[in-house]
Amino acid sequence: MLQGLMQDDFQLTIPAIARRLQSCYSDREIVTLREDGPDHVTYEAVGERVSRLARALDRLGVAPGERVGTFAWNNQRHFELYLAVPSVGAVLHTVNVRLFPEQIVYIINHAEDRVVFVDDSLVPVLAPLVDQIVGVRHWVVMGDGPIPEGLPGAISYEDLLADAGEGVYDFPEIDERQAASLCYTSGTTGNPKGVLYSHRSIALHSTTMCMADGLGLSASDRLLAIVPMFHVNAWGLPYSAALTGATLLMPGPHLQGEPLARLIEIEEATLIAGVPTVLSGLLEHVEQHGGDVSSVRGGICGGAAVTRGLMEGYERHGISILQAWGMTETAPLLTIARPATGLDGEEAWADRLTAGRLSPWVEARIAGDDGAEPHDGEATGEVEVRGPWVASAYFGDESQSDKFNGGWLRTGDIAAIDERGFVRLTDRAKDLIKSGGEWISSVELENELACHPSVREAAVIAMPDERWSERPLACVVLEDGHTPAPKVLRDHLAPSFARWQLPSSFAFIDEVPKTSVGKFDKKVLRAQLAEDELEIASVEPVKS
Ligand code: AMP
Repeated sequence: MLQGLMQDDFQLTIPAIARRLQSCYSDREIVTLREDGPDHVTYEAVGERVSRLARALDRLGVAPGERVGTFAWNNQRHFELYLAVPSVGAVLHTVNVRLFPEQIVYIINHAEDRVVFVDDSLVPVLAPLVDQIVGVRHWVVMGDGPIPEGLPGAISYEDLLADAGEGVYDFPEIDERQAASLCYTSGTTGNPKGVLYSHRSIALHSTTMCMADGLGLSASDRLLAIVPMFHVNAWGLPYSAALTGATLLMPGPHLQGEPLARLIEIEEATLIAGVPTVLSGLLEHVEQHGGDVSSVRGGICGGAAVTRGLMEGYERHGISILQAWGMTETAPLLTIARPATGLDGEEAWADRLTAGRLSPWVEARIAGDDGAEPHDGEATGEVEVRGPWVASAYFGDESQSDKFNGGWLRTGDIAAIDERGFVRLTDRAKDLIKSGGEWISSVELENELACHPSVREAAVIAMPDERWSERPLACVVLEDGHTPAPKVLRDHLAPSFARWQLPSSFAFIDEVPKTSVGKFDKKVLRAQLAEDELEIASVEPVKS
């Protein structure tokens, strides 16, 4: 074989991204929204802090491959960790702060985090769990004021950096296949599963994301990354920004419409990225209270279906929202729904309402009963994908191998794919509900409902919801002679679930429809819901 004669040993790694902060974009900025307004820091200064942080990680004894947890919102310090931790050869484990406490404990222990960096505002969430977490050597608290009580021996992030000394840190040689970061998905059955991203997968994904038919990100952009940094590397946006020199605007914990609109106006954001629930909150605020969003040219929205109503709402303000589809196991971008060239009007809308066209480097097939179905826009089945940023296994969990089908990942999403590579999602094979960008397990709700003495059977399905994308609907068969109020059933669930996971809608039915092999046939329930055939009783949602 005749080998190419290029520098094929050049490794696609995070330190190469980190170096660009100072070598190419020193005047670009990262802006964090704090209580008293936006805080600006140049990429040059952030680059210096990344070097300090790298030295500090050495001092804390972080070894190559060891996991370093973060429990934080989108802010400058989290961005520094995104760059420094993988660059010293360790693994950045971003913990989802919205998980149920038991899941937080589970994933920190499962990942074997040795150092955990925590936003000061989130210390009260972690502190009560510390006794159940094993193996963390250091808790580091990030903030500007005194360290809140609750984490044993907590160290201040700013003290750590101040003591770390000046000068450019010489990052070690890193193999691009080495693990760079770890993110757990709760979008599976059973315990959350870890997806371990390599440097190479992140480098390729975040570069591709910037392409003109993707985000079209450039150094003249001011990108508002609303998607949390604890969700699949914030869709790779921090890395895409550092690669292109886009200014990165970070909202911190301020995810409501008002502060987001204010940040956009003051900082003249040009691009926004977030899940439908958050973008719809922002739109609602702008429509009701005004706000200058004229600087924004577009946005990317995904994680759940993006409705035409939401996109049209943004069009009224001159903002073109592109739908994207992906999952934690795929780093996450698989498709972006930019309409095909030359289309306008309804034809363009037809493309925009799909999940989008398969991204460069991503390949997909539709699993059928007898092999793969044709890509004719009609045949549907579970989508399987492969590509350089698609997971090949879960971290430390071989039992899930049925997700991985001979080099293809089973997405759990049902879709048709057309001749142009556009993916149209039609259903979900996984038995889960996605509400406000977070997962709710229907099976767990069903099991717990079935423990109530008045419940004979319960099947939980997703109910479309304008604000949250989906909410759980509990379809319940009662024991003869029992008539509990919906609230009684919800109160029964309350101790075992986070408040936002609790159903506030119940349908009392005579029996749960079954398939020929006796399994719950939720397709029938979903069809009944769509046809308005289910009588739904609602309880006031629990305030969170
Ligand atoms: P997660 O791993 O939590 O990011 O969830 C990934 C899942 O979210 C996908 O497998 C889909 O079921 C769902 N999802 C993501 N993007 C979209 C979209 N644009 N439309 C519909 N569902 C989506």
